[in-house]
Amino acid sequence: MSAEPPDVFERRVRAFFDGVPLLLEGIEGRVPRARAYRAALADAGLVGIGLPTDLGGQGLGPEYEAVYERVSLDVLPQEEATFGIGIGMAVPTIRDHGSRALQRRFIPPALRGEEIWCQLYSEPGAGSDLAGLTARAVRDGDEWVVTGQKVWTSGAQHADLAILIARTDPDLPKHRGITMFALDMHQPGVTVRPLVQVTGVAEFNEVFLDEARVPHDWVVGEVNGGWALAVALLAHERASLGRGTKTVADGRSKAGRQPLPYAGLVDRARRNGRLRDPVVRQELAAIYTGEQLIPWLAQRGVHPSIGKLWRTIQGRRAAQLAHVLAGPLGAAWETDDTDADYWAYHVLNCRGMSLGGGTDEIQRNTLGERVLGLPRESGPDRDTPFRDLPHN
Ligand SMILES: Cc1cc2nc3c(=O)[nH]c(=O)nc-3n(C[C@H](O)[C@H](O)[C@H](O)COP(=O)(O)OP(=O)(O)OC[C@H]3O[C@@H](n4cnc5c(N)ncnc54)[C@H](O)[C@@H]3O)c2cc1C
Repeated sequence: MSAEPPDVFERRVRAFFDGVPLLLEGIEGRVPRARAYRAALADAGLVGIGLPTDLGGQGLGPEYEAVYERVSLDVLPQEEATFGIGIGMAVPTIRDHGSRALQRRFIPPALRGEEIWCQLYSEPGAGSDLAGLTARAVRDGDEWVVTGQKVWTSGAQHADLAILIARTDPDLPKHRGITMFALDMHQPGVTVRPLVQVTGVAEFNEVFLDEARVPHDWVVGEVNGGWALAVALLAHERASLGRGTKTVADGRSKAGRQPLPYAGLVDRARRNGRLRDPVVRQELAAIYTGEQLIPWLAQRGVHPSIGKLWRTIQGRRAAQLAHVLAGPLGAAWETDDTDADYWAYHVLNCRGMSLGGGTDEIQRNTLGERVLGLPRESGPDRDTPFRDLPHN
């Protein structure tokens, strides 16, 4: 579509991101700032680089996508995190599996940041064993009626829409009776309750679905065919979680779910007079190596679970070093000391990185079974109707 050469495109991408702080000056609040940022990105012709223009994308080739990926890795503002589930997970799943009508309905507003998405997967009794979910959807004419409880739902408090998986046929084995839906979060049957984490921040929520309604047209893919799509979405999630970045937002934010960057740790070591400490230097070298490796692995197109695992290992390692460098402040700090609070937040937050998007053990199981070809975990329940399985 565009005759713009990749190097000119690259300069335009850099110029846009250089201008983001000015663009957001004076805009208060996480969601207004995020929406303003994303709308400006869309106006600049920089959303959906590889997506067709009739879906709000730019229709550009893979070389432009690669340029955007490379440049944005270091400069994406924390406002982008608000759209991680929409852009990184819902959009590619609807693009690949949704009807044309669903693609037209949901992709353009997601790209422009007009609709924020959350992910209604995990339940109190179904996390790693996601296919054991019990939220059920029952057909009622042109609609589905959904009842159940979801948990750990990141960003549900800001979300307009959810990608939901629910059980639509308990007489089928557990992987086969699940359907994927898009759900309107702004309706009486949806209650969102925040959960405060160890960091003191409530980034995720419990979501209660009490006869929430979904139009039949908002089924993504086939009825009872949702498990394959759920897995496809998780692969997108792991790929985007494992992409890595060299920048982490200031202060407390969801963008803090990235490993602490090397540059900030070096700076802290220097300020604390620990830069010549051989143990600190060794850790810094390992963190630098990890940070360099991840974009290269992503470019080679390795299995998404590798990037996801890297992120959590790197995240823990970097947080551990931050903790050591902080000295006593790592355990007890004044919350009005913004510097100490920033480091403490990331140290406390790093454990959650291992869980969101599937735990380390689940990534290792996936790699063992799907990449190394090891035997599948035994599961006598794979062919038993869900209704006949023992439940918690
Ligand atoms: C920061 C964060 C954000 C999240 N955001 C969302 C979200 O937006 N939407 C959403 O739906 N969910 C979200 N989650 C939930 C997340 O996906 C689950 O926490 C995760 O899948 C683990 O499930 P669980 O907590 O029920 O733990 P469990 O499944 O109960 O696991 C407990 C422990 O047992 C281990 N284990 C379980 N099964 C196996 C096995 N087969 N082999 C080896 N070890 C095993 C696990 O590794 C873990 O250590 C989020 C979680 C966090 C921490």
